[in-house]
Amino acid sequence: MKILVYTDSDALQPWLDAIRLHLPQADASGWTPGMAQADYALVWKPPQQLLDEQGAGLKAIFNMGAGVDALFARRLPPGVPVLRLEDAGMAVQMAEYVCHAVIDHFRDLAPYRAQQSAGVWAQQPLRLRSDFPVGVMGLGVLGERVAQAVAQFDFPVRGWSRSPKQIAGVDCYAGSAQLPAFLRATRILVNLLPLTPQTENIIDASLLAQLQPGAYVINVARGAHLVDTDLLAALDSGQVAGATLDVFRSEPLPAGHPFWQHPRIRITPHSSARTLPEETLQQILHKLQAFAAGEKPGGMVYADRGY
Ligand code: NDP
Repeated sequence: MKILVYTDSDALQPWLDAIRLHLPQADASGWTPGMAQADYALVWKPPQQLLDEQGAGLKAIFNMGAGVDALFARRLPPGVPVLRLEDAGMAVQMAEYVCHAVIDHFRDLAPYRAQQSAGVWAQQPLRLRSDFPVGVMGLGVLGERVAQAVAQFDFPVRGWSRSPKQIAGVDCYAGSAQLPAFLRATRILVNLLPLTPQTENIIDASLLAQLQPGAYVINVARGAHLVDTDLLAALDSGQVAGATLDVFRSEPLPAGHPFWQHPRIRITPHSSARTLPEETLQQILHKLQAFAAGEKPGGMVYADRGY
């Protein structure tokens, strides 16, 4: 079995070493232009040339991440199965990140940090969690785990997905027809949708206006879900009280972007759920062996729906 590996970082060698260790019968190498046809490709943000040269002869493409938007932005060989990561250690990271952001906002921790800097001892007004319903857009592998984690803190939790779901402790809405009701019932919005033509720019002025007043936005999915100028306007008007943003239209977030200095925006550099090499490799190798044995592993991606 011949495996090619491509990552957009310079960390190729550890992947090759690990594949050779765990799958010694495989012939693994990094991609080079013009190389012999491989059976399987393990890729993250591959160049178009790789897909053009190797694509049609591949048995499957394994995306070394949960989101496939960067891969689908390329021209893919028709009919070649694409598989993605499912959780692989990211769900717990996402849950802790989102719970931290929800609690930081709900418990007024930013004002307390400012007060400490100023040497001020003063309690902020008491807040009730019933006034801070949390709505999670996207109830997939990550969104479901996040919704359940937030519900553990007794916040009212809603969720919204394409198809109907039943999740204990989560009030579930589905489809575009139920989006307005979901938004009306949400004050803290968490975005964990995949980036597709249907979800691009979904967090715009119209969506933000439908949230409960004094809303809070946590975007941990993709920057292109959010219309930056609409968020800034909603912060100015007070409809949105603040935001925690981990992902951006352009990454790194350009110097001088108004998000950097905004007093009510908290920024992290696309680090809410990092790829864990060991978990990632174990999962991909497991899927690869299942696939090679004629089974249908989880994590199949469908081009027609874009995720
Ligand atoms: P999944 O594919 O498991 O879940 C996607 C969810 O979104 C599903 O519930 C799906 O509905 C729902 N959905 C998709 N399209 C629509 C739509 N048009 N309307 C309503 N709901 C929709 O993805 P994951 O949970 O694994 O990952 C989610 C995203 O998180 C990734 O695509 C990636 O962009 C982002 N991510 C960010 C990371 C970071 O570090 N910031 C790290 C990892 C991922 P249904 O259940 O009905 O199919």
